[in-house]
Amino acid sequence: MSTNCLEIRNLHATIAANGTPILNGLDLTLPKGEVHAIMGPNGSGKSTLAKILAGHKAYEVTDGEVLLDGNNLFDMEIDERARAGLFLAFQYPLEIPGVSNANFLRAALSARLPEGEEIDAVSFYKQLRAKMSLLDMDTKFTGRAVNEGFSGGEKKRNEILQMMLLEPTYAVLDETDSGLDIDALKIVARGVNAMRTPERGILLITHYQRLLNYIQPDHVHVLANGRIVRSGDRTLALELEEKGYDWIREADEAAAAAAGA
Ligand code: ADP
Ligand code: MG
Repeated sequence: MSTNCLEIRNLHATIAANGTPILNGLDLTLPKGEVHAIMGPNGSGKSTLAKILAGHKAYEVTDGEVLLDGNNLFDMEIDERARAGLFLAFQYPLEIPGVSNANFLRAALSARLPEGEEIDAVSFYKQLRAKMSLLDMDTKFTGRAVNEGFSGGEKKRNEILQMMLLEPTYAVLDETDSGLDIDALKIVARGVNAMRTPERGILLITHYQRLLNYIQPDHVHVLANGRIVRSGDRTLALELEEKGYDWIREADEAAAAAAGA
């Protein structure tokens, strides 16, 4: 057990409504200071993993554990997980009608302060504008309702903006590259790269290796059938791009058959 990583051990999870297994013994350790990528075919359980870390009620954890700096994640309420330094950006970000982006971000930051303390408005807006400028976001997005009517790419940038303000210890970004054109992809990558520090671990979930041209991961993991079936360095992502996912699935099924599973 380490106090310097997000550790996922033997995680098994099902769909709560019908018991269908989705994660089947997923192991992954994300140390601070590293960027890991999870790649995998559609339907392999990537988003399910992100949602389970966030405490989504649609899934039931049936075995295994997740340790956040050595603390059991599943013992923590959702807000505690955020306060403990976990941040998740979802594949389909939620819209929050009636709540301005700026107020939402201020509330999220305030929630982490001790009772009675407040965010200084002037320094908050200064910080907000600086980060929006790095992400090439128009300041009009401060006053708009969170993600409401945002294009796909604008939502993704907004997720990165949230991450930049919240400065989490561990960030899990689910398909932050999907639906982005190449310019937007570079901007999002710039935001993520600006967040790489020895004090932070970042988990990039992506179907395509394209994002990894701009954010170079320290490790690449392949998720298939609900568990990590391969881990390697960046070259694994290139190999996947070249050969697709089938060769991994086939090798995995052959290994399972040989093991009598
Ligand atoms: P990925 O993100 O890797 O494409 P997901 O984690 O979204 O895959 O989904 C994994 C599998 O679980 C898919 O077959 C998906 O249809 C199914 N699934 C996920 N969540 C639910 C749910 N709430 N209800 C029913 N099926 C689900
Ligand atoms: Mg997904």
